[in-house]
Amino acid sequence: MGADIFQSPVVVITALSLAAVLVVMVYTLTCWRQRNMMYFAFLTIAVSVNVLGYYLEVTSTTLEAAIVACKVAYVGAPLTGILLFMFSLDYSDRIKLNGVIRVILFAIAPVFTLAVLLYPESTIFYQDLVFSTEGLTPHLIVTPGLLYYPCLIYASAFTVLAFVNLMIAFFRQKDYEGTIIFIVAICFPLLVLFYTTVFGLVDGWNPQRSSMAVSVVLLTIYLVRYKQAEWQSKGRGLVVQDMNDAFILLDTKGMVIDRNLSAEAYFPELKGRQRLRLADIWEFPPENYTSYAVHQIDMQREGTVRNLKVTTSPLVANGKTTGTLVVINDDTVNNQLIQELTRMARIDELTGLNNRATFFHDASLSFELARRQNEEKGCALMMDIDFFKNVNDTFGHASGDEVLAYMGSLLRSRFRRTDICGRYGGEELSVWMPATSLAGSLQVAEEIRAAVEEKVFQHDNSYFGVTISIGIACISQADTGDFEDLLKKADDALYEAKETGRNRICTYTCETTPRIWNE
Ligand code: GH3
Ligand code: MG
Ligand code: MG
Repeated sequence: MGADIFQSPVVVITALSLAAVLVVMVYTLTCWRQRNMMYFAFLTIAVSVNVLGYYLEVTSTTLEAAIVACKVAYVGAPLTGILLFMFSLDYSDRIKLNGVIRVILFAIAPVFTLAVLLYPESTIFYQDLVFSTEGLTPHLIVTPGLLYYPCLIYASAFTVLAFVNLMIAFFRQKDYEGTIIFIVAICFPLLVLFYTTVFGLVDGWNPQRSSMAVSVVLLTIYLVRYKQAEWQSKGRGLVVQDMNDAFILLDTKGMVIDRNLSAEAYFPELKGRQRLRLADIWEFPPENYTSYAVHQIDMQREGTVRNLKVTTSPLVANGKTTGTLVVINDDTVNNQLIQELTRMARIDELTGLNNRATFFHDASLSFELARRQNEEKGCALMMDIDFFKNVNDTFGHASGDEVLAYMGSLLRSRFRRTDICGRYGGEELSVWMPATSLAGSLQVAEEIRAAVEEKVFQHDNSYFGVTISIGIACISQADTGDFEDLLKKADDALYEAKETGRNRICTYTCETTPRIWNE
């Protein structure tokens, strides 16, 4: 007889249901403190106890054993509806019941449990229980007492309420996958309950208990997936909320529907205000919202001008534009860094003149242009400080640097913006003067030479001066050489100036003119 019982399909199904719901219970108890999980964890306990009771009932061989089994089941059974309902409230996050109401609603369940436990002394729940081994499985035949139907209504009414509440929440969230799972998970046991209430047991079998187990397993699978998705979107949300770039989401009418903290820092009007048109607080033209584009704009902010990169991306769903995402990056610091790095890469720190590479590049370009335009005028100058080594040796390297810095500022102030000055090497400076005749370049060169000669430098208590020699070479139509050739000629002229006594200007043709300028 005992062996037959365990071979019955009802026992197998009930055992499998019990195993499944126990696994789920262990899982949910490990995470019952997480959001939305507390009532659900208790629900899995209630369902487990209920299914366990039923398992004991279908494996019992005597009326006494079956009654004990029934009492076990009723420790969990009345609680299932209210727990599911409370879970639905937490999960949908729409209605908050206050603590007193919660306690009252829960307090009803133990009344039914107590009524069952008191049988047969009290017949308020069951008028009579008869043990039957007819049909698919051993079972109890119930004659309902006064509280039997109220308990049924208490459990099923809250299940229906939970169902309605979750459906509303899902439709609002447009989570159709969740909707379908919940419909199946909640409707299935409800339908089974309806069937057994109206038509009675299925040949002695009450499929309602197993249907509850299936329901709880389904819900758990969904919750695990949902939580994963929730964490993912929460993680993304946190990043967006705290990122340095401003993020503003607009609907099709240009109303702000979401923004992060950075956006509120740009537009304090957005703080706390829900409905606001972006165009009302920012001059950024609304026409820009309609297409993907990157706009560079300057904005006055906290007393400084900020260079902003504004990216607009229309959001398209099912071929329809549903809004626009506006992201603002502040490029000011980057731009300043780039400018500074570019300057550092081009400019010689000590003299403030172009470094050798930049001088050569820019001057060559300007030279090529002059050649293309058949420009007949244009001169290259090479300057070198006379006996500069002595300055370093006598007054120290810092004094030498001071002389070089002075030379830099002198050149920057005397030459035109179209002239290109550079530090060619240690204490050699070079200049390209486009559209300038030999006479013109000689004049400036002499001004420079004279200014340097007059300048007095101080080191501690001693004073000193320096002189410079300059070589000049100018382009001529007959000449087909490039800029490097021209510089070489200017350098030759400089060599000539050094050879013939220094502190003078020499042109490439070696017309030394010391007498004119040195008197
Ligand atoms: P000359 O009249 O023939 O040009 O004599 P000079 O002493 O100026 O020529 P030389 O080429 O022998 O010496 C150049 C000196 O310039 C040597 C070097 O130490 C110095 N010098 C080059 N760059 C710098 C610099 O950045 N700072 C300082 N203080 N000195 C420099
Ligand atoms: Mg030199
Ligand atoms: Mg020198």
